[in-house]
Amino acid sequence: MAKIIVNGGCGYIGSHTTVALQNAGFEVVIFDNLSNSRLDTLDKISEITGIRPEFEQLDCTDKQAMQDAFSRHNDAIGVIHFAALKAVGESVEKPIMYYRNNILSLLNTLEMMEKFNIPNIVFSSSATVYGIPDELPVTEESPLRPATSPYGQTKIMAETIIRDTVTANPKIHAVLLRYFNPIGAHPSGKIGELPIGVPNNLMPYITQVAAGIRERLNIFGNDYDTPDGFCIRDYIDVNDLAEAHVAALNHMIKKDVTVEIYNLGTGHGLSVMELVKAFEAATGVKLPYAITARRPGDVPAIWACSDLANKQLGWYAKTPLEETMRNAWKWQKNVSGI
Ligand code: NAD
Ligand code: UDP
Repeated sequence: MAKIIVNGGCGYIGSHTTVALQNAGFEVVIFDNLSNSRLDTLDKISEITGIRPEFEQLDCTDKQAMQDAFSRHNDAIGVIHFAALKAVGESVEKPIMYYRNNILSLLNTLEMMEKFNIPNIVFSSSATVYGIPDELPVTEESPLRPATSPYGQTKIMAETIIRDTVTANPKIHAVLLRYFNPIGAHPSGKIGELPIGVPNNLMPYITQVAAGIRERLNIFGNDYDTPDGFCIRDYIDVNDLAEAHVAALNHMIKKDVTVEIYNLGTGHGLSVMELVKAFEAATGVKLPYAITARRPGDVPAIWACSDLANKQLGWYAKTPLEETMRNAWKWQKNVSGI
């Protein structure tokens, strides 16, 4: 069984990807400092797949700890690097913390890959690298724009660091996955997104309103230059997103990859109001909401062209939105004990 190191594997996307990797026959070892996740995620993963992933509790910014852990797992054939801090607003307030965590964890990972001859890395990038796009949908060729937050900047910098590393060391192969808006949860309701405090993101905010934890959803602006005036995003089911990592690794194992970049979205934009209505229709739960001011820094509309991932990776977003909504609600009900 091919072994994969999953940095940040206890987190939202990492836990779903671990499930997908195990189901595809990979052996997973998770490196995580649990700064934004919980240890019992390992139990939940093993309840779903029947296999408990190996676990190393460590901080990827700690070079000695990384060296020790990589030496124990130097038979791995690849690394998926999810470990990062991801709150956009917090990154504006604490840029040093964000640069240190997100950049140092990547540098240590690449250094250990070189040291222990581990050839493949899949990196979690983001649609944020496109800023406000001139043309929609965005393709991998669309220009990158200067980031509006240190968080976004860490993604642009990380992409550059990985490219330069691959150029200098052809034994390293990289796939950069630019996620659009991941939502939903595993159909079992055992793993999902666990925001700490008030959620910044739309989907967890919606499910918390539905659960009665928050009084109402605040919709940030209805005066955008879009068909219904609300912002548009490309919401991608987290289970589909997880499958893309398996597809990327299989692709790298088969083909001689240098650096490849893929957008991961559905190819369709949905407005905030369309998402709200889809949640209500799928769950039968009415969502109280209010229209409030625009949130500074929000991109009016963005959605992906994912043709390249379809063609090269054989990957497709396939979960119907209704199912994604039901899974998100099932997870929230489990978390809230409803
Ligand atoms: P998450 O916070 O749920 O998961 C990240 C995991 O990494 C957590 O388990 C956390 O404890 C761990 N971690 C963070 N810093 C670490 C460190 N220094 N050492 C060890 N472990 C560390 O986030 P997520 O939503 O699963 O995101 C995963 C990746 O995808 C991140 O790189 C994020 O920037 C990127 N991404 C996420 C989204 C999104 O909307 N969720 C969108 C685009 C890109
Ligand atoms: N949004 C909203 N209310 C919220 C959270 C988000 O109206 O409480 C909107 C936000 O303006 C954006 C969309 O929902 O148009 C998606 O926001 P999110 O933070 O989930 O993702 P982003 O695309 O900003 O990374």
